[in-house]
Formats: sequence, C-alpha cells, structure tokens
Amino acid sequence: MTELDRAFHLARTLRMIVVMLCRGAALVFAYRGLSTLTLGFYWYIQRRPLYRAGMMPASEAYEWIQLGLERLAPGVLLALLSTLIARWLVPAPRAVCLRCGYSTTKLTKPVCPECGAPVPIESTGDAGPRREAPH
Ligand SMILES: [Zn+2]
Repeated sequence: MTELDRAFHLARTLRMIVVMLCRGAALVFAYRGLSTLTLGFYWYIQRRPLYRAGMMPASEAYEWIQLGLERLAPGVLLALLSTLIARWLVPAPRAVCLRCGYSTTKLTKPVCPECGAPVPIESTGDAGPRREAPH
C-alpha cells in the first residue's frame, strides 16, 4: 500500500461517514415532515364538515400541507446531495511529491522533476478511477 493508496482509502472512508451522517439527518427531517403531513391529514379529515360548511377558510384548512413540505424539504435535499456534500467536504487526494508537493500525476519516471526525490511509481499512474464517490 502506497502513501497515495492510504490517502485515497482515508478519503473514501471519510466520505462514507459524511454520506451516512447526511442520510441520517435526512431521515430525521423526513420523519418530521411525514408525521406532520399524516397528523395534518387526520386533523383535516376530522374538520372537513366545518370546511364544507364554510366555517373554516381554505388557508387554515390546508396550512398543514405547507408546514409538512417545509419540514420534509431539507431531508429530500440532504438525501439527494449527500454524495456532493461528501465530495465537497473531503476532496480527493492528489498525487504529489511528498518532499516538495509537485504534482506527480503525469510523470513517466519515478523521480520528482522539481526536487529529484524518488516518487513511488504507483502514484505516477492515473488516479482517475479511484476518485469515485462511495456508494
Ligand atoms: Zn519533489
């Protein structure tokens, strides 16, 4: 395992943790939103005769829908954007010279052209496929 492999492994693990935290929070929001909608629906069913008789304005009869959706929305956003948030919070490690920080992604020889330090030949390869987000 090279230094870069370890860095990629760490980044993947950290991203997975961020994704799980986002989805956990999304579940809390979803629970709050869905329970508001459910309770609001029963509330409305019980008061429908009032509404039908014109004793309750439509703005009051349906405000539980707006409240429920407002509570649900952050959960949906968090669930959809969790991978993007994880990528933004935990950037993929770049292949760089450990001594001077020079990028070693396009090197063909295992030597840093900037400072002459030996560069692990594995880290000179294309790091593209390893940048995938966690599932
Ligand atoms: Zn160097």
